[in-house]
Amino acid sequence: MTSLRALPSVDTLLREAGELIAQYGRGLTTQAVRAALDEARARHRQGDAIPTPAGLLTRSGELLRAWAAPSLQPVINATGVIIHTNLGRAPLSPETLAAMQTAGQGYSNLEFDLQSGKRGSRYVHAEALLTRLTGAQAALVVNNNAAAVLLVLSALARRRRVLISRTQLIEIGGGFRIPDVMKQSGAKLVEIGATNRVHLRDYRQAIEEQPIAMLLTAHHSNFRIVGFHTEPSRRELAALAHEHGLPYVEDLGSGTFLDTAAYGLAHEPTVQESLAAGVDLVTFSGDKLLGGPQAGIIAGRGQLIARLKKHPLARAVRADKTTYAGLSATLLHYLKGEAERKIPIWRMIAAAPDALRARAQRWAAALDPAVAAVVEAESTVGGGSLPGQTLPTWALSLRARSPKKLLARLRSSHPPIIARIHNDRVLLDPRTVLEEQDEVVISLLAQHTRH
Ligand SMILES: *Cc1c(COP(=O)(O)O)cnc(C)c1O
Repeated sequence: MTSLRALPSVDTLLREAGELIAQYGRGLTTQAVRAALDEARARHRQGDAIPTPAGLLTRSGELLRAWAAPSLQPVINATGVIIHTNLGRAPLSPETLAAMQTAGQGYSNLEFDLQSGKRGSRYVHAEALLTRLTGAQAALVVNNNAAAVLLVLSALARRRRVLISRTQLIEIGGGFRIPDVMKQSGAKLVEIGATNRVHLRDYRQAIEEQPIAMLLTAHHSNFRIVGFHTEPSRRELAALAHEHGLPYVEDLGSGTFLDTAAYGLAHEPTVQESLAAGVDLVTFSGDKLLGGPQAGIIAGRGQLIARLKKHPLARAVRADKTTYAGLSATLLHYLKGEAERKIPIWRMIAAAPDALRARAQRWAAALDPAVAAVVEAESTVGGGSLPGQTLPTWALSLRARSPKKLLARLRSSHPPIIARIHNDRVLLDPRTVLEEQDEVVISLLAQHTRH
């Protein structure tokens, strides 16, 4: 057995590591060389031979590549879930990406008034587009919808009572529970009604019994109450709230500007509809059915929005300049009436089954017919919207001895393909795969279904 003394020194290896140093810098390369030497010593104790200097440099290079690889990497979403929170929700339109790039690469008038030359407010940036689009008097953009709910409750109901129905004490995934956020804000929850039913008289009685700061309703998002179920309408709640001089706030969750019923889905309340029904403030996400970057949007009465803007928490949950730029570009698609053509998630929702079938057939044509078939399947919208609703689609169905192992092999490809198992087959839904990814999908599938 060779002796450990045969191992070269760090300095000797670094003298040979010019290319690695040029690519990764001297500091990081030194760490990699040390790690490779440590590994070699540990292996030697297990009885392995001492590697050559070239072998040590190769190993150092592998370590550097692994360390420098971004942890966040693109994947191909073949799950058929359009707004997939675990896969990053909404892909962005080219116009949105261009706007974010422009805002990110240089300086901007983020908080600078070009007319007066004085300090300005970042809050103005997407506001005009939002008010034009929704009919709200004012709007405020924050980091995400959870932050929007937290800010509204903190600013308008801290240490005071907020009425919420037991039908709406929801958990929406990732551990976000409406009651927990309400507690964080310092608001006191007054739960009314039963798990399946709440009546206007429950609200009225609670208001008459104690001082109340606000009425809050939350979209059911990811679940559906079927059967014996009632909740008062928005109009009824707004009238009751205003009769008592209280604000009525609705957490819309996803929030949409377009009518989902036009796409064969159930009707999801639109932001415009909620405001027109008399809701004082609505909150919703930027990256769910809106189809833009991560953001939380609060829209409604000017006086209330003004109080939110002044609250210290607004600073803690404020949005980044690239968010304002990207959100504005996405909002413009709606104002120009081109949302369905330009916003990727709406293109996916609107995709015709025939076109999806043709794509699935093109994928299948490149594969062994004993393995691949095209089948009818269902896509879902996801993102805590439209629970139980599906869109008819055509999917590629792959037969495998172990569907689970094939799923894992697809996950380990470059880029990873995320698929699902249905009836013991691996299903890939073209609806959520960007069209420009078709060629990559075909070549990866050919590779991974060959045995
Ligand atoms: C998704 C959702 C939220 C949280 O929104 P984020 O933008 O993910 O913070 C809050 N409330 C409801 C009802 C939701 O569906």
